[in-house]
Amino acid sequence: MNSIYLDNAATTAVSPAVLETMLPYFTEHYGNPSSVHATGRDARKAIEAARRQVAAAINANPQEIYFTAGGSESDNWAIKGTAFANRKKGNHIITTAIEHHAVLHTCQWLEKNGFTVTYLPVDSEGRVTPEQVEAAITDQTILITVMAANNEIGTLEPIAEIGKVARAHKILFHTDAVQAVGAIPLDVQAMNIDMLSMSGHKFHGPKGIGALYIRRGVRIDTLIHGGAQERGQRAGTENLPGIVGIGKAIELATADLEAKAAKTAALRDRLMDGILERIPDVRVNGSRTERLPNNVNVSVRYIEGESMLLRLDLAGIAASSGSACTSGSLDPSHVLLAIGLPHEVAHGSLRMTLGTDTTEADIDKVLEVLPGIVSDLRAMSVLNAETSTVSDDTFYCPRRNA
Ligand SMILES: *Cc1c(COP(=O)(O)O)cnc(C)c1O
Repeated sequence: MNSIYLDNAATTAVSPAVLETMLPYFTEHYGNPSSVHATGRDARKAIEAARRQVAAAINANPQEIYFTAGGSESDNWAIKGTAFANRKKGNHIITTAIEHHAVLHTCQWLEKNGFTVTYLPVDSEGRVTPEQVEAAITDQTILITVMAANNEIGTLEPIAEIGKVARAHKILFHTDAVQAVGAIPLDVQAMNIDMLSMSGHKFHGPKGIGALYIRRGVRIDTLIHGGAQERGQRAGTENLPGIVGIGKAIELATADLEAKAAKTAALRDRLMDGILERIPDVRVNGSRTERLPNNVNVSVRYIEGESMLLRLDLAGIAASSGSACTSGSLDPSHVLLAIGLPHEVAHGSLRMTLGTDTTEADIDKVLEVLPGIVSDLRAMSVLNAETSTVSDDTFYCPRRNA
């Protein structure tokens, strides 16, 4: 166990209040929501209450919320379901180069099955513009899917403006809001969102439960065939404790959102500015303004993200890196490459994502140990000012208030 957990973009702890709400649904209230008897009816009631909680958090109607097994399933369903339901209308999908693999790999699979996909490039901060989206629209376009917030570099995308473009062209708009729920305000009406993916374990709910918002009137194909659950659109006996858990978790995560986000953002800036002050040759990846309140992502010149991770882990600090070495691949993250980082720099990146329980003392501990770790690793590195092929400009990074 790490004493300081700064990997909340990977997953979060189930909050005690959420767990407490869930527990009776494993034991006393274990009914099958499809059963006619009282035990079944109790389960059904709990599911409908959770559906109202999820709907309220994004200004949707409860009938527009479908429970799934997580963010990946919601993304797959929204994209494949839309693609196959609209085959006669067209075969073109617009997305970005920095989506989560649950979106990118789904799009790549659709390309093997007769669809064409435009992967919009992003700027150096990871932003795509509504103008880029509009310019990519053809008479074959059936879906625009752009994430609300990036899971690696924390960049917020202009989804309200993209929603406006999609609506004006009568094209369906899906957003992967897995990182955004509980971090920034979301309103599917005001933002013209037709489909929205979320995942319980990213906002202190349980793993293996998610939801897909599908605007009333939008028809998409079924992904899981079987029984009549979820309005006949997503078969399988419901994950009752999970559903109760995601309902409670989203209610807690979205309550008093602005104040909590401001507090987290202040800690984020303390960490980011502290790193820039204490460690030379560091750059911040992503935007300083259009950014998730809990995301810090930096590239540290001349060293590997993985080695920083291991040293931080030894110091009791859980973080993450931008390279995908853990998945057996030596390729750096597609997101870091898409914002224009050379491989060498992308390999030196470190992501720290704060949680609701992160304290100033936690941040100060990181600021205390990280500079020593970096100078140790730099002393051992084969890369230095003489051997590096990367221009100094890559590491020009203005302070937030400069
Ligand atoms: C975590 C994540 C997912 C996948 O969600 P799971 O519930 O783990 O399947 C999808 N998109 C983004 C942006 C994520 O951060």
